[in-house]
Amino acid sequence: MNTRDIYFEKFGIKPEIFEFVDEVAKAAEPRFREVEDIAEYNQAKVLAACVKNGLSEAHFAGTTGYGIGDIGRDVMEAIYADTFNADVALVRMQIISGTHALSTAFFGSLRYGDELVYATGQPYDTLHRVIGITPTKGSLIEHGVVYRQINLLADGGIDYDTLGKTINEKTKVVAIQRSKGYSFQTGFPIAEIKKICEFVKNIRKDVLVMVDNCYGEFVERLEPTEIGADAIVGSLIKNPGGGIAPTGGYIAGGHTFVENAARCLFSPSMGMAQGATLGQNKPMLMGFFLAPSMVCASVKTAILFDEVFSKMGFKTSPPSSVTRTDTPQVIRLGSAEKMIAFCRGIQKASPVDSMFDPEPSFEMPGYADPLISAAGAFTQGSTIELSADGPVRPPYDIYVQGGLTWHHGKLGTMMALNQLYIENLVKLPK
Ligand SMILES: *Cc1c(COP(=O)(O)O)cnc(C)c1O
Repeated sequence: MNTRDIYFEKFGIKPEIFEFVDEVAKAAEPRFREVEDIAEYNQAKVLAACVKNGLSEAHFAGTTGYGIGDIGRDVMEAIYADTFNADVALVRMQIISGTHALSTAFFGSLRYGDELVYATGQPYDTLHRVIGITPTKGSLIEHGVVYRQINLLADGGIDYDTLGKTINEKTKVVAIQRSKGYSFQTGFPIAEIKKICEFVKNIRKDVLVMVDNCYGEFVERLEPTEIGADAIVGSLIKNPGGGIAPTGGYIAGGHTFVENAARCLFSPSMGMAQGATLGQNKPMLMGFFLAPSMVCASVKTAILFDEVFSKMGFKTSPPSSVTRTDTPQVIRLGSAEKMIAFCRGIQKASPVDSMFDPEPSFEMPGYADPLISAAGAFTQGSTIELSADGPVRPPYDIYVQGGLTWHHGKLGTMMALNQLYIENLVKLPK
């Protein structure tokens, strides 16, 4: 049996869909080559940090109770810090998500009367309640923090004029969101983040530039903390967990910023000295070691989705013409039916929960619209594993991301298109 036959027999993929996607993948080889080069660089960067910090079997033992003297945790945090060129990193399974990591970082540094400026327009959906953009008990705004948002220009660019005028003596943190979030705009590549950092530091050197790095890790050669940002924050069930970390988040940057976050996460008296790791150092470290490779598979998958669906006539973001800085690929599907079929295809091609049929749901805390998602991951909610989701509202954009292996990513792409095809929602181009 050849590959085409097993795809047909086991997954119902029509031969014409196989041929079409396979051809598109072959033509995209030069784009894949660039992604492989970035992965090669990032693998060396992580490995060098493991070597420098003398990572050893003993570090995998883990602790219980208070977790005092957890040498594996200390080494893990040093490996993160070195890889990201940060003074220190807080890498903890007690950080339960990206939102929690960002919230912890903000509450750690911002006090009554301080100003938080978002330079990249409206922040990610789940942060609206953290900040208090949507009035919420316990939000930053309720705690007396002043929030200022610099909306993007009509072309999606940064409004430097307004940013410059907004920064004042009360500005404490300027936040940048690297990834697009639930929007069709493209993310902000490292070169642009560098420009924002220089711009802000030119006005006031002591303003903290913090980057929401969710979905960004290892997509480019450099991270924001290597080009002038003071801190980065992210989730371990996205890129840096490599699909292996069972949970967790990280906050990396200067001593004061990270220690303030630790005081907020635990207690002012504790800082970073405690927190049992319960034997999870190994999967967390192994995930970080694998992350450049997993991100490579994810980005290649995203590129294939982009190539296939733009050839089918759909609008995509980012398009091939811009520098990619995050893992998600957006496809403007244009109808709720197509979103559901797309997710159904991905779900059928998932290693876990393939028997479920996705439908729109209101149950995801932190999001305002009904969400649809295809998620058949080993780790619940993991988006370094092949998954698709999006708010079911016009213009019906689906966000597809992850793929622990390129081969699964390719099969998933075929399955999504095949489902639309067998439900008569699309026709192949002639
Ligand atoms: C995913 C994401 C978050 C929130 O992370 P969760 O783990 O879903 O809480 C924040 N910002 C960006 C840009 C994200 O992509």
